[in-house]
Parts: sequence; structure tokens; C-alpha cells
Amino acid sequence: TAPAPLADLDTEALRAAHAEFARAYDELKASGLALDITRGKPSAEQLDLSNDLLHLPDGAYRDAAGTDLRNYGGPNGLPELRAIFADALRVPVAQLLALGNSSLTVMHDTVAQALLHGVPGGELPWGHQSISFLCPVPGYDRHFTICERFGIRMIAVPMNDDGPDIATIETLLATDDSIKGMWCVPVYSNPSGAVYSEEVARALVSLPAAADFRLFWDNAYVVHHLSDERPEPIDILALAAEAGNPDRPLIFASTSKVTFPGAGVAFIGASEANIAWFQRNSAAQSIGPDKLNQLRHVQLLRDQDGLAAHMEKHRAILEPKFAAVDEAFRARLEPWGAGAWNAPHGGYFVSLDVLDGCAKRAVQLAKEAGIAVTPAGATFPYGEDPRDANIRIAPTFPPLAELRTALDGLCTAILLAETEALLAERN
Ligand code: PMP
Repeated sequence: TAPAPLADLDTEALRAAHAEFARAYDELKASGLALDITRGKPSAEQLDLSNDLLHLPDGAYRDAAGTDLRNYGGPNGLPELRAIFADALRVPVAQLLALGNSSLTVMHDTVAQALLHGVPGGELPWGHQSISFLCPVPGYDRHFTICERFGIRMIAVPMNDDGPDIATIETLLATDDSIKGMWCVPVYSNPSGAVYSEEVARALVSLPAAADFRLFWDNAYVVHHLSDERPEPIDILALAAEAGNPDRPLIFASTSKVTFPGAGVAFIGASEANIAWFQRNSAAQSIGPDKLNQLRHVQLLRDQDGLAAHMEKHRAILEPKFAAVDEAFRARLEPWGAGAWNAPHGGYFVSLDVLDGCAKRAVQLAKEAGIAVTPAGATFPYGEDPRDANIRIAPTFPPLAELRTALDGLCTAILLAETEALLAERN
């Protein structure tokens, strides 16, 4: 018989379904898996695409202007590399800096500098006040960790398909002047895959807010497409300038998921005033970034077309993996009404909502069966999902066959957790 949504089953049918899932789960556990879909890491096959970096810069050590890149200096980073990313990020080269190996470090340091020194337009350092950040949920756990480490209060904001909920943000900004920042992943959000619309972006730079309110515009996935349906790039700096708030956006990105995570190049882009502020702060931190790594990246990617062609190779590897997620959930969860998920057009994640109150238990069951999944709650500030419903799926790392096995096992764990919960409710 065709299954019905679990919640609609009568108790006898629910008990039968539970018995079936429990049996499947016992078999799964006995099969001794050791699989991992916890983090959004590129697969070895994807890393191979950038192996030329391992022998570049192949004796070269000068930039186009003839500067010896082996030495100290050049704090803004290589102009040629900044030019490759300027268009995708919609930042003029002069206002786009190429830095070290991690955009997370740049975000962390930017928050630290703002806490210690304040930002342009602010009267006091953030650290002299009790401050908060708006956090669209589900979101990126490492953004939340930065806030938590620094004691910045986090205020969750619901996400829609076209970005965070503007009506909620408008009310919060109007009533709470402790709000100094907001985490945004505007293209292929981590983990919901949502793409901010221009309307949402315009509202975010226009809404009345504190003079030292900053959007942390983390464009980590701006060139990471999975389909031909590409979002129209948003020029957030231009929109902010038009709205009279040119200093509101701080744009971050990196090549972590273009070349090698941990051995790539990070970027920051912003208004002239913000960039001057950032340069003043970072001059005390470093005598310049690793320009030889930047040169390697210029040689590998060459230009905007080279970057686009490189990203197409990633897409060819990733598309079947994202398709496998959709197939598994359609086959195993949909018939039972057991989950709702997105099919993203880019980025690194799928966001799955299971029955309220079941995410933690499902992830725990999966773990006990040898399938490691991102801890439930990780996508919410303080690790607390008020509905205990969201699970982040990171399908990029394992080979396709392993991914399929892990997804199938996870579905079994979810179905078992949900039937358990529904039966408990009826007792
Ligand atoms: N931002 C987002 C939204 C991410 O998903 C990630 C990586 N998972 C990062 C930043 C980390 O970037 P980086 O390697 O440049 O520190």
C-alpha cells in the first residue's frame, strides 16, 4: 500500500510503520558503516582540479608591475587577483583587498577591531556597549561562534526564499539600537540555499539603523553555481551608496571552495572609508599577505572566464551529489510526509526540516549507526533550534556511492525518530 503522511496514520498503522523502520534501522546498525556528511568540504576529486597550485608559481615571483613578491609589503594583495574577483563580488578593485587564507579570520578580526576601536560613523567602540547581531536562521554556525566568543547577543531572524524576513528586521532595527551587525550569506545561503532578492538587499541597506550598523555580507558562494539558473549579481555597495548608507556593507569572500580550503585567498570589499579603517587596523597585524600564493592563484585562474570555467568543473562533480540528496529524500521521506527540504541552485548545503522535536534524535540515531551528520541545532544561535527540526546536509565530500548510503541511512533514522515521537504523543 502507498504510504500516507505519518501524522495521518491511525495508531495501528503507525505501530506497523515504526516496527518496519526499527527493523531497517537494526540492519543499518549491524552493517557497520563509518560515513561522514558533517561539513561542507570539497571532495578529493574537486581538490584535484587545482593541483597545478602545487607546482606554481613555477619560478615566477613578480607581479605585472614588476614587484618582487617574495618580499614583505603589498598589504592590499595582488591587483591581478583582485581584478579576477572584482566583477563577481561587484567591488571596485581599489576597494577589494586580497588577504590571507581564510575569510572567517577576516570576519573575526573585523568584529574584534570594531569591538576595540569602533567603526566609521560610530561614536563608541562596540565593546563599550552591550551589542547584538541579527542572525538569519538557519545560518552558518561559525558566524554564530564568532558572536558567542565575543559575548555579542544574537537575535534570530527567519529566512524566506528571497532572503531574511524584512518586516521582522524593520521592527527589530526600529526598536533595538543595540543591533550593530547582521550576518548575511546573500547567494546560496548556508544552509538554506536561498538567494537574497534585490528588493531584500535594498531594504537591508536602506532601513533606518544605528550609524555603526554593519552588514557582514559573506559572499562565500557567489560563483558556486549548480545550475544554469544564475542569480542577477547584486551591487550591494552601489545600493548602499544610493540609500545614503555607503558604509553599511562589509563584503567577504574567499577561494576556499574554488581552489584549496585552508590554502586559498580571502577577500574583503567595502566603501573607501571602511577599507581605510580596515587597512589602518590590519597594518598593526601584518606586513602583508602571502603574495606568492596569490600569484599562484592568478596563474591558475587567469581571468574571469578562467574562474568561470574552473567553477563549471566543480559543478560537474557536485551536481550529481545534490541530485542524489533530492532523489533520496523524494524516495524515502516524501511518501511519508516526513521532511521538507530545498534543492539549491548553488552553494554547498541542503537544509532539511523534519518533524518538530525530531532532529536531535534522528541525528543521534544516525550517529549510532555510523553516519555522522552536522549536530542538530548547529544552524541556530547558541546551537538551539527552538523547533528541533533543522538538519544541515553537506553532500559534497563523500564519493557518490557513499553519499547515497549515508542519505539512505539518515532517512531510516529520521523515519524511526518521527514514528517514535508520534507514538509517544499518542500514549
Ligand atoms: N562563510 C561561509 C558562509 C561558509 O560556508 C564558509 C565555509 N564553510 C566560510 C565562510 C569559511 O570560509 P574561509 O575558508 O574563507 O574561512
